Amino acid sequence: MNDIRAVYFDLDDTLCAYWAASRRALRQAIEEAGLKTPTEEAVQAWRDVFPAFSKEIKTDAWYAHYLESGEPTRTEHIRRTLNSIGEFDESLAANISARYAELRNEYLELFADALPLLRKLHGRYRLGLITNGPADIQRQEIARLGIEEFFEHILIEGEFKIGKPNRAIFEEAEAENGLKPEQMLFVGNAYEHDVQGAKNAGWWALWLNRGNESRNEDPPYPDAEIKHLYEVCDWLGIERPDETAPTPEAELVKNWRG
Ligand SMILES: [Mg+2]
Repeated sequence: MNDIRAVYFDLDDTLCAYWAASRRALRQAIEEAGLKTPTEEAVQAWRDVFPAFSKEIKTDAWYAHYLESGEPTRTEHIRRTLNSIGEFDESLAANISARYAELRNEYLELFADALPLLRKLHGRYRLGLITNGPADIQRQEIARLGIEEFFEHILIEGEFKIGKPNRAIFEEAEAENGLKPEQMLFVGNAYEHDVQGAKNAGWWALWLNRGNESRNEDPPYPDAEIKHLYEVCDWLGIERPDETAPTPEAELVKNWRG
């Protein structure tokens, strides 16, 4: 038997369909820019420059800026994309970046099972969010989704200056609630950041694997793998919400980096 008192969630692609919004917004922003390169090629170029750039973001030159604002790295990502397709133009990069951000926020949506679950758990457990990313973007997402009222505690990498899977951010959540690690449950879609981060901190962890990603065989392992957020209720031993919430379509859960 567990003695869970607090349930913490990841945000992007756990409660809301971030990658689907990102894909749709980027395609449209590039389309509207009227590049010579076909849109799908430009989108592919954006994907291709990402792996190397994402490692740079965590280095000193970028990280302090990234924590505060999504703009500098987002625009640099577009600059490198335009450069790689031979269409570099500084003002074009700034325009695509701004339009992409605007559309991504507009297209961001909660998964159908998120709100009923939060309503069900609210008042029964302390609820929290631990989300990685720039402070401004994460705050904007939470406002856009209208979910702030459900959470007693919101921890953002950009504000705390440390992100998952670092143990310190999980310890901050314990301290905020005056609870022990074994009274904390984390629910998230990212194996390393969410599941292994939480397990290494001594928490319970449920891996939300909506897209049937192959499993990382390295321990620590999740306490359970789930496909739908209502399974959190099953695991906690409480009844599910009354509302039916269909399983999201494949396009909504696809990680387009993969
Ligand atoms: Mg996530």
